[in-house]
Amino acid sequence: MINRYDQYISRERKCKIIITILWIFLILMSTVELIDYIIYQIVDYTLFVDNFFVDHILVSLGISIAITVLTTLLYKYFNSRNTLLTSYIVMFGFLTFIHAVIVVHYNIHVIYMSYALVIFISILFTDKVLTTCIAGTSLILYIHFCVFYLSTKPANSYHHNFMDMAATFVFVSGCYMASIFMMGFFNELIVKITDASLLTTHLEKKIQLDSFTNLYNRASFDETLDLSFQKSHSDNTQLTTLMLDIDNFKRINDTYGHSYGDEVILELVRVINECKPENDKAFRYGGEEFTLILNASEKDGFLVAEKIRTTFYASRLESMKNEIFSVSIGLCQCNQNYESVEQYFIDVDLALYKAKHSGKNQSVITTVQNSI
Ligand code: GH3
Ligand code: MG
Ligand code: MG
Repeated sequence: MINRYDQYISRERKCKIIITILWIFLILMSTVELIDYIIYQIVDYTLFVDNFFVDHILVSLGISIAITVLTTLLYKYFNSRNTLLTSYIVMFGFLTFIHAVIVVHYNIHVIYMSYALVIFISILFTDKVLTTCIAGTSLILYIHFCVFYLSTKPANSYHHNFMDMAATFVFVSGCYMASIFMMGFFNELIVKITDASLLTTHLEKKIQLDSFTNLYNRASFDETLDLSFQKSHSDNTQLTTLMLDIDNFKRINDTYGHSYGDEVILELVRVINECKPENDKAFRYGGEEFTLILNASEKDGFLVAEKIRTTFYASRLESMKNEIFSVSIGLCQCNQNYESVEQYFIDVDLALYKAKHSGKNQSVITTVQNSI
């Protein structure tokens, strides 16, 4: 990426567009030259121009085809290596093409304005340095052309006096200034689009999170479990869900107050984040209940559950030095016999129920109803 604008439409793609435009120009020009040539075969062409076939067909088309092919080859070679350089190559290839057209068709009155076209097309890159280089080179080529080329031609073969030169200068410079202003405008738009997309990403993330614990929230859990369930059925991927509930939490709230209870919740969240596999998600299911969706077998899920349980049991909080905290965990691995995610989640819940009713502070696996 070279500038902010390239983040939305890559420079590679813009280079490709310029090459396409160049070829379209070549095809249009060749067609018009050939039609002209056919017409001049019918009407006596010497009335209009001398040596039409040599100047316009052999030389003009030959040079145009050569420039187009060379630019395309350079584009193909450099595109994957250096996109910044490629954008300069394609734009300068385009300018050379237009300059060659101007040189051959010097007797067409408005042809000199074509430099402005290249300047305008360069806006595509929203690169002020590139556009300035194109505008500067256009003017240098134009002056060189007037002084060293036009002066060698018979005065009656073209019409280009001081006023024409002044008009070309004003037009080309005006286009350059307009291009620079337009790029400033584009950049403003890009800043706004970037801000808006950052905000959208931020909000998308925010609506998935629980603001207190910063874990994923209940809505996110429902969605993720549904997707994981479908994936486990279609791709046979492993899925084990853990459900955690802090033991005797009401007593903590009643003894110390809710703010102390909050500290305990945050301590369990810290332990969950520390013990869970990096790529698996943890959720705050509600109050002091949490869930984990693991891409693992129930055996590995059990190891994760035990790690969380024992770490939490060993935790001590500064504000409640003499308190020991514990958590009960139920877990269940999904299998193809579960017909719906709801049916599967009943067994996860059942495992937690068992853990609570067989003494708390333990991890229990359930695969009762639907195991193969
Ligand atoms: P058990 O061992 O059976 O789980 O007993 P328990 O006392 O933990 O009972 P239960 O799981 O039903 O406790 C839920 C309590 O958690 C009730 C509610 O006041 C409290 N709670 C829910 N959310 C929060 C919270 O965000 N902060 C605090 N401090 N308490 C909360
Ligand atoms: Mg509870
Ligand atoms: Mg509880």
